[in-house]
Amino acid sequence: MTAQSHIQVNRLSVHYGVGGSLFGGGGVLKAVDDISLEIPRGSFFGLVGESGSGKTTLGRAILKAAPISEGEVRYVDEEVDYDVGRLGKKELKDYRKRTQLIFQDPYAALSPRMTVRDIIAEPLEVMKLTKTRAETDERVREIAAKCRLNLEHLRRFPHAFSGGQRQRISIARALVCQPKFLVADESVAALDVSIQADILNLLKSLQKDMDITFLFISHDLSVVAHTCDYVAVMYLGAIVEMAPSRRLFTAPKHPYTKALLSAIPSLDPDDRGRAQKLEGEIPSPLNKPSGCRFHTRCPIATARCAAETPEWKAHAPGHFAACHFAE
Ligand code: SF4
Repeated sequence: MTAQSHIQVNRLSVHYGVGGSLFGGGGVLKAVDDISLEIPRGSFFGLVGESGSGKTTLGRAILKAAPISEGEVRYVDEEVDYDVGRLGKKELKDYRKRTQLIFQDPYAALSPRMTVRDIIAEPLEVMKLTKTRAETDERVREIAAKCRLNLEHLRRFPHAFSGGQRQRISIARALVCQPKFLVADESVAALDVSIQADILNLLKSLQKDMDITFLFISHDLSVVAHTCDYVAVMYLGAIVEMAPSRRLFTAPKHPYTKALLSAIPSLDPDDRGRAQKLEGEIPSPLNKPSGCRFHTRCPIATARCAAETPEWKAHAPGHFAACHFAE
């Protein structure tokens, strides 16, 4: 693991047994299939792909909220070096404090029967991180202010708030234990575009202010374009391209990345209508295509693509792609 890595994923697979009966006949769903990646400390790392690509499962496996079937997840900060799949009870408790998840849906994530103060305070109380109510209140007020919540709001219930304000409450709850690594899973997907920008700006400023590493999961490349330092593109359980953000957007190598990029609405009238529409649905992870897993939808696939799995190759420093014709 390099000195700057916060998270290193080595050949990670997450498999689930599905279907079958007493007499057998079930299958194995490979939600994450032999993935390796490194998330640098203090970075905003984007993970992008269509629904069903396995990005949420990967984020959850890193947080030890999904089973690690094969491979390894390592977490390193200035105090600890954890093999996440082998954490003991005490270490797991500590890991839960160091890592957090911001939920996707700000409407469903907050208990309607709890005040905003109690919602934000709950992780501190469950993990017994404060000794007195006064200390808890002080931590809640501090993080609420950082998340630009009005302190008056702490006495109210979630139904009184808009989607953007509820997402701020979710963020405050995720940050109250002062985690060092945070997974934001489609955290702006349910919000209006103007509110999305507001929440993204908030996450970026919190990242700098609190020195947090972010894994930002989204189905929408346009959302990660201006936010992330690095982006990995996932398709059917595997990463097909990974690069520093600017490079991925200016010199994409993989046809899947190109198709996602071309679907971003352009302000340039000459660019409109050039979208490379992806045909068909993402195949079932129970029945992955042979060779390159993208070949059933790839506009430039050849017979070689169905027969041969493409190598994961470097094209520039930090820029990798898996495609026979990426050159
Ligand atoms: Fe398309 Fe073939 Fe490249 Fe796969 S290997 S992305 S099918 S061209």
